[in-house]
Amino acid sequence: MNLAERDQHVIWHPYTQMKTAALPIPIVRGEGAVLYAQDGRAYIDAVASWWVNLHGHAHPYIVRKVAEQLQTLEHVIFAGFTHAPAVELAERLLQLLPQNQRRMFYSDNGSTAVEVALKMAIQYWNNLGTPKKKVIAFRDSYHGDTFGAMAVSARSTFTAPFWPYLFEVEFVDVPVSGKEEETVKQLEAYALGGDVAAFIYEPLVLGTAGMVMYTPEVLDKLLQICRQHNILAIADEVMTGFGRTGRHFASNFVQHGPDIVCMSKGLTGGTMALGLTSCSEAIYEAFLHDDKSKTLFHGHSYTANPVACAAGLASLDLLLQEETQASISRICSRHADFAARNKSLPYIREVRQQGTILAVEFQDSTTSYFSDLRDTLYSFALDQGVVLRPLGNIIYIIPPYCITDGQLDQVYKTILGMQEVVSGDRPYPRPDQTMLHD
Ligand SMILES: *Cc1c(COP(=O)(O)O)cnc(C)c1O
Repeated sequence: MNLAERDQHVIWHPYTQMKTAALPIPIVRGEGAVLYAQDGRAYIDAVASWWVNLHGHAHPYIVRKVAEQLQTLEHVIFAGFTHAPAVELAERLLQLLPQNQRRMFYSDNGSTAVEVALKMAIQYWNNLGTPKKKVIAFRDSYHGDTFGAMAVSARSTFTAPFWPYLFEVEFVDVPVSGKEEETVKQLEAYALGGDVAAFIYEPLVLGTAGMVMYTPEVLDKLLQICRQHNILAIADEVMTGFGRTGRHFASNFVQHGPDIVCMSKGLTGGTMALGLTSCSEAIYEAFLHDDKSKTLFHGHSYTANPVACAAGLASLDLLLQEETQASISRICSRHADFAARNKSLPYIREVRQQGTILAVEFQDSTTSYFSDLRDTLYSFALDQGVVLRPLGNIIYIIPPYCITDGQLDQVYKTILGMQEVVSGDRPYPRPDQTMLHD
């Protein structure tokens, strides 16, 4: 049995209908923006391995820093103990985050960073003696797969079985172009109704919704309403953090700093799982008390794992290098070029861009994740040697910053090929028996 077949006997993959899924592709090695498969094929990782990879695969500098850390301290309990990688990473990130951010709470991934943020916000009001019940979120948001994170995410097919178990959330529409005033009014109405503990949002780009974008101007208006009505603002920067939007954080585009920020994904450059929730001094102080019941009773076994923190520090070193920042600018302007040139092609409804994130929305009767078009485009891209995972009829690039111009060209070419497939100019799928296992 080959590896893919052995996998099929023991593994249950994420977000995968195991009955109909194609055999997984065994990857043996990664270098730069390229993944190498066991069968010798190479794939450009245009989705940064689910939006986590910043500097390319197996980056030698991160490898060295992680190896050094592993030889000195692999892990230590983070209650009652501390270590340099955790403190240093917190200190350095606080320099880049909005100025009002003062304290860092570590966890394991994006979902737990969101859980911590929600618990901070809700308990904050409890600790002050003025409990507030409501949480507001964007209707199409995605904040993770644990229960609290699901509760503040869209009520979609993905979470349908759990709806009865999710706490109630008030949803406002995403303030996309032309709908800004509606969202402002909706948020204002909830704010005036009172009892709102927090507003959680993906700043500027809603990832899973289909790279749906809105402007810093309207976000600032929403944040101003939060400020006026004492609603805590939670920026979920799990996807947008670490240069994705063209600045270190999407929150750097707005005047009003969020009260709480969630980070993960790019935090370690895509090397290991790590989550981080930062908060303002006011939030932190609400938990300081002689009464022990005011404590934030939350923690994970691997809180602030030193190896993950070392990866985070190494990734940050690379991110702040001039060369990386130049690469981010290069990707931004090449994306802008592509968008300008191709936005009026037939069957392309819209091309959107925010920094290094580019999304092309094809015309299709359904935007569902389950549409056939999605599967067709996905395997078409793989055939072209590019990993692109459509969200329904939306295709997006969120590349490692080290992606070369030649590799970007190949990705763009693949997207234009997809446009031909969608328009019917290019016959596809072609028969490929190895893709399906049933
Ligand atoms: C991916 C994502 C999460 C969840 O992060 P995980 O590490 O997958 O749990 C939360 N929020 C946003 C905006 C994300 O994109």
